[in-house]
Amino acid sequence: MVVLDPHRLFERPFRVAPYFSPRLWGTRDLRAWYPEHGTESEPIGEAWLTADRCHLWQHPDLTLAQWPGGFPLLTKFLFPHDKLSVQVHPNDAQAAAAGIGRGKTEMWYVVAADPGAQLGVDLAPGTTLEQLEKACEAGAGAELLNWFPVQAGDTVFVPAGTIHAIGAGMVLCEVQQQSDNTYRLDDFGRRDSQGRLRELHLKQGLAVARPQAGGGLQKTGLSSGESGLLVACAYFRVERRVWHGAYRPSAGRLRLLIPLQGEVRLQPAEGEPLMVPLAHAVVIPPTAGPVELQGTGVALEVTVPDPCDRRGA
Ligand SMILES: [Zn+2]
Repeated sequence: MVVLDPHRLFERPFRVAPYFSPRLWGTRDLRAWYPEHGTESEPIGEAWLTADRCHLWQHPDLTLAQWPGGFPLLTKFLFPHDKLSVQVHPNDAQAAAAGIGRGKTEMWYVVAADPGAQLGVDLAPGTTLEQLEKACEAGAGAELLNWFPVQAGDTVFVPAGTIHAIGAGMVLCEVQQQSDNTYRLDDFGRRDSQGRLRELHLKQGLAVARPQAGGGLQKTGLSSGESGLLVACAYFRVERRVWHGAYRPSAGRLRLLIPLQGEVRLQPAEGEPLMVPLAHAVVIPPTAGPVELQGTGVALEVTVPDPCDRRGA
């Protein structure tokens, strides 16, 4: 009997199986992104591409939770059919002080947006946290956010401490620290399928919130169809990569590739090519050696900067 060593499996590029998470504000028809998900019994809000619970496509017995030292980034596709709650995330120090692990800095790349789709980031100018607290108690917190329209190709940075909400009618690819630490400030009195209100965390959230946290819409200077940097921070560096013919990411760092159009063919240093469908993630470990993306493609290329990619450290 051959016993597979998970550490050896993590040394080569591998495709990850998404996990589909039901949400009140989600959608029942994901066929444009995942052809096998046409008629869901519950609305699906999020497809988690690299969560701890996601398993390796070719080795369903192995999950990313077994990545040595913990897999640093959670990436998702979000499908808001209704607006999300107003929320805020702690930073690493605040999460550690509360005994809840890591903080959460995130970014959104707008993959598709209906006309008029909006994101809310930070408080509107001149608004105070005291005003937000009162508004959230009345279920009107979203009205005090700084809302702006978005279109496909836009990038928004959401550092920990940013008060934010996602509007309806768009598809986002989200890159964030591997953390589920969310303080929900206002959920507009919505009830789940059992008639329950979701828990709010107004006091904890206001304690970590910064009215203007330094994120928001990024001026990338990129025209559509152009490769280049979208956003970089201590936790991730996200680039849009467009190629015709072949593209070879530089080796030696932990990287993720998430196709944004069609399927991508990845030829590893050794062995068979990997086919990576739209809205799925392939992990390219630092030990993988040179890889080549063949044909034509558009993908988000996410690089984990030092020191997060020190495996097992
Ligand atoms: Zn968030």
